[in-house]
Amino acid sequence: MSVLGVYGVPQAASLIYYGLHTMQHRGQEGCGIVSVTDDGRMLRHRGKGLVSEVFNAQKMEELAGSMAIGHVLYTGAASRSVDNIQPLFFHHGSGDFAVASNGNIVNAALLRDELESRGSLFHSMTDSELLAHLIKKESSEEPRINTLVAALKLLEGAFAFLIMTKNRIYACRDRYGLHPLSIGRLGDGYVVASETCAFDTMGAEFLCDVRPGEIVTIDHKGIRSTFYTEERHHCMCAMEYIYFARPDSDIEGCNVHAYRKESGRRLYQEAPADADIVIGVPDSSLSAAQGYSEASGLPCEMGLIKNKYVGRTFIQPSQSLREMGVKMKLSAVRSIVSGKRVVMVDDSIVRGTTSRRIVDLLRQAGATEVHVRIASPTMTHPCFYGVDTSTLDELMLANHSIEESCRLIGADSLAFLSYDATLRSACGRSEMCLACFNGHYPTPIYQSIEDVNK
Ligand code: SF4
Repeated sequence: MSVLGVYGVPQAASLIYYGLHTMQHRGQEGCGIVSVTDDGRMLRHRGKGLVSEVFNAQKMEELAGSMAIGHVLYTGAASRSVDNIQPLFFHHGSGDFAVASNGNIVNAALLRDELESRGSLFHSMTDSELLAHLIKKESSEEPRINTLVAALKLLEGAFAFLIMTKNRIYACRDRYGLHPLSIGRLGDGYVVASETCAFDTMGAEFLCDVRPGEIVTIDHKGIRSTFYTEERHHCMCAMEYIYFARPDSDIEGCNVHAYRKESGRRLYQEAPADADIVIGVPDSSLSAAQGYSEASGLPCEMGLIKNKYVGRTFIQPSQSLREMGVKMKLSAVRSIVSGKRVVMVDDSIVRGTTSRRIVDLLRQAGATEVHVRIASPTMTHPCFYGVDTSTLDELMLANHSIEESCRLIGADSLAFLSYDATLRSACGRSEMCLACFNGHYPTPIYQSIEDVNK
């Protein structure tokens, strides 16, 4: 998922449209935009599908105003209803407001139960609606920032919220800093985005990151900061660097391509292979393959070609769609791999289906050996923070040793990056969420890991 906001720029919704396009890799199931007209009315359009499918010229023209927020969605099967497509908007005594979120609140079920027992009615499964109910239950006399601080204090887990009233946008990030949120400058206005790659498309200049536990208020006075809590950490999701984000994005001062290249170099140092060529699985592993190639001195070749018009398999909501997606999306280049011992660099192994299929493709194209090198540690735990990695019993490395997994995917050898190298690749970070690799969740998780399988 990703959020995007524009304040103080004419035709803000059109800019959001281009920015959401740039962040389409973070979700393809639905998208929406809410704008505020100059006379304070909130207008919304949303729908299932890609940004280019949901919006057209007429819709964009209708979404008038110099302030807007937008969202792209990916969800699990349980919540694929149009009601969950954000931004959502709400009516309240103190004024209407719209909300969009990225992440997952881990105590949402408890809070929803409590709110429902006190009469709240929910229309969606989103964290945005949960936050709205928490804001709405506070007195309408209170300044909005106070009600927001009180509401955010109750939330546990990962979130990046954009809350838009008719006068301002609030950008909020959870106290652990699990997912990125950055602010850019655009003319006299501002842009807030889940990924900085959106800034380039929109013509904005990076200004700062929203810090963990911070609420940044953006309005006619400029930007100002409040923290909703004193307890703050820097547990950025490692998968943002490894897989999710675009290589041209910078996450908390570290460029994603540079991170992946460094992880590839370290992967070679930790797990060299006797081979002829290095091949990256496109697109997210090409940078790591380049790093592995540079460190090893082996040539980096384009041995796999991706059909760009098929969605990401990891994100597809059902197993059968994922399997079909793998078959449609990659081809091996026979003239490059035939007769060669290949190092195949990939970003991660989740269920193992993709890896097995790619090893097969390379062998069918004539590769004599396939050595699989993964630029992340073994993924052994589910994610509770909004990244749909998988349930425990589907994760290959949670249920099989590295040797068994190597056999199951049909490789000649299989090796993973260490935790230490994963952390050190990120421009000297000392903290990061690696919970899906090591089970050390930075927050309380409010349910047992086994419950995730139910
Ligand atoms: S558990 Fe894994 S996917 Fe989830 S936030 Fe942490 S590192 Fe990211």
